[in-house]
Amino acid sequence: MRIFRSILSLVLVLVTTFLVSCGSPSATAPPTYTPEKLEQIQTFRIPIDQARQRMSELATYIAREDWVDTQSFIHGPLGQLRRDMIYLANALLPEEQKEASSLAKEVFRHLENLDAAAKERNSPEAQKQFVEAMRDFDAYMQLIPQSAESA
Ligand code: ZN
Repeated sequence: MRIFRSILSLVLVLVTTFLVSCGSPSATAPPTYTPEKLEQIQTFRIPIDQARQRMSELATYIAREDWVDTQSFIHGPLGQLRRDMIYLANALLPEEQKEASSLAKEVFRHLENLDAAAKERNSPEAQKQFVEAMRDFDAYMQLIPQSAESA
């Protein structure tokens, strides 16, 4: 009985070791992101990447003190961004999810302040809020895992 038990525990050790070595990371992504999850994340990030690329348009409006277009841009092209950023944040690993959600909220806090500054035609405040929004936006982007192809 004792021999049987020690063989059994040895088998368990072998099985566990095998599972652990199978679970070691082989790609750039953390092991807990499955390929399916990564694919989903790459789909969710498309509108966010597009919005990020178009932020230079917003910078141009602010630089020109074109407050009408500044406000239209926040409510138009960036209108869906909050939803998209929260949606993607929820697809991340728990640790990143928490950070990404709070960064997404930060981006929108700054965009709301920017909207208010545009309404008041307050150029320094608008510029400040834009810079802050971009900082938080880029920090958010850093949390998104790369796909196998783009890494
Ligand atoms: Zn901030």
